[in-house]
Amino acid sequence: MSIDRRRFLGAGLGSALMLKAQMSSAEAKRYDVIVIGGGTAGIPTALFAAQRGAKVLLVEKSSTLGGTLFWSTGQIAGAGTVFQQRLGIEDTPQAHFADCMRINRNSADPGLTELTTRHAGETINWLARHGFEVMQDHPVTGIGHDHFTVRRYQQGVSSGLSILNAFLPSLQAQIEAGRVDVMLATEVVDLIQNQQGVVQGVVSNAAGKGLRDIYGRSVVLATGGCAANPRLFEELHGVPLYAKTAYPTSMGSGLILGMAAGGQIRGGDKYASLPGLIPAAHEYPTTMHAFAPLHPKVRQPWEILVNARADRFVREDHPSVDHIEHGILAQPAQRHWAIYDAAMLSQSPPIIPKWDRQRLATEHSRSDMFSRAESLHTLALTAKLDPRALARTVARYNSDIASGGTDQFGRLHRPLPIATPPFYAIEMQGWTLVSFAGLNVDTQLRVLDSASRPIPNLYALGEVIGAGATSGNAYTNGMLVTPAITFGRLLGQRILPLEV
Ligand SMILES: Cc1cc2nc3c(=O)[nH]c(=O)nc-3n(C[C@H](O)[C@H](O)[C@H](O)COP(=O)(O)OP(=O)(O)OC[C@H]3O[C@@H](n4cnc5c(N)ncnc54)[C@H](O)[C@@H]3O)c2cc1C
Repeated sequence: MSIDRRRFLGAGLGSALMLKAQMSSAEAKRYDVIVIGGGTAGIPTALFAAQRGAKVLLVEKSSTLGGTLFWSTGQIAGAGTVFQQRLGIEDTPQAHFADCMRINRNSADPGLTELTTRHAGETINWLARHGFEVMQDHPVTGIGHDHFTVRRYQQGVSSGLSILNAFLPSLQAQIEAGRVDVMLATEVVDLIQNQQGVVQGVVSNAAGKGLRDIYGRSVVLATGGCAANPRLFEELHGVPLYAKTAYPTSMGSGLILGMAAGGQIRGGDKYASLPGLIPAAHEYPTTMHAFAPLHPKVRQPWEILVNARADRFVREDHPSVDHIEHGILAQPAQRHWAIYDAAMLSQSPPIIPKWDRQRLATEHSRSDMFSRAESLHTLALTAKLDPRALARTVARYNSDIASGGTDQFGRLHRPLPIATPPFYAIEMQGWTLVSFAGLNVDTQLRVLDSASRPIPNLYALGEVIGAGATSGNAYTNGMLVTPAITFGRLLGQRILPLEV
């Protein structure tokens, strides 16, 4: 056995530990559990299975453990947490479940939602016992999405890294105890199945070492989503990937491995988009130049929103940001333009939270997505909108304000008409951080085949099961990270079969 010491973590992790990986001759062993992907879901799966006595192999294709936790805000929710208790907040898993299903309009998998909400509180309490601390005044009812009715939603002081830092010392202890082997810079490229379809191991590919067969009793797909892979994303969702904002390793390899083993994809139809991304370029997939939340709880709107036909299409101050998001989702290519004027620029809080008025004004003179003109007609031409349609839309909005009449979409916050030149337009795009399509699993997290039968020994969790499974056709507060780590704990602690 050769011992190879490696650094798992980049210097930027601050107090995080330098883990020592015991790189054993993995191919010579048979593991109880092989976890593919050392990110949000894979780390707790490996850790808790090892704590139960399993011999675990954790295979990670990049050179560090952590996956999307390096980028994620890591906002999580749970009922009955120590963070609620210290503020005297009463809550139950049943109330959490009901809130999730209300927010996503019953579009998430109820069994997986129930499994998450029943156990999320204990997951968060475990994190708290291992150093996880939340931001000031957290838990809250909500941040960027539709709010819960109870304060149960929190973000760690260092975002996703707070979660990673809570896990790593315990994982290191398991590595040092010889119960977890870690292979970094190693990609799983295939699953080993016998003729009956029973999964028996994986084929790994490490740079310079070639292909290896590694055997295990259970194989867990924890490889993340596919929102960094435009071709696969579009194939599974029927919608282009408009902007690349997911962690770059989210290439969907676990979806392909699972499908090749007989797994079924579901959830592409649950695709939901976020509002207000200001793209860096018109061509897809682009990147984020800036972001305007368009969330009335974050900032009441002063502007109107129009689509590519220069028509308004939604009540911009609707109390549900999910309602606004679905309004945008129904527009051609999910493009939307905020239209406003000089009076709004000088009086309203900036539409892009981190920008002051000067920065906004400057962008309007230099960036493709920001138009400015002395007349509405020229503004429309510059923004590539129909001038007559835009004039008609603005005239209707203004005349309803002037007459004190009801707004066309029932909007209540109408502080000013759009009447003072110069006029402004900001072009925006609907977008997603995550993929909604994923492998169909049951509440034992077993990957199911086309007849809804479990594929023997194959499990999946995290974004590889699709955001649609736990978040539904919406962005339900924390319903990706919370199930990823909760399911990892449950798989490791009780679901995975072990002979120990
Ligand atoms: C910017 C951002 C903010 C977000 N904020 C939130 C939030 O606040 N709350 C929330 O609930 N959700 C949030 N999400 C979503 C959430 O973070 C992700 O859905 C979740 O972290 C995914 O966890 P995972 O374990 O499935 O994937 P990851 O954490 O990405 O881990 C997958 C790992 O598998 C590895 N891997 C992939 N393929 C292979 C292979 N073939 N062999 C070996 N290794 C492989 C990858 O390198 C990676 O390390 C956010 C996402 C982003 C991008």
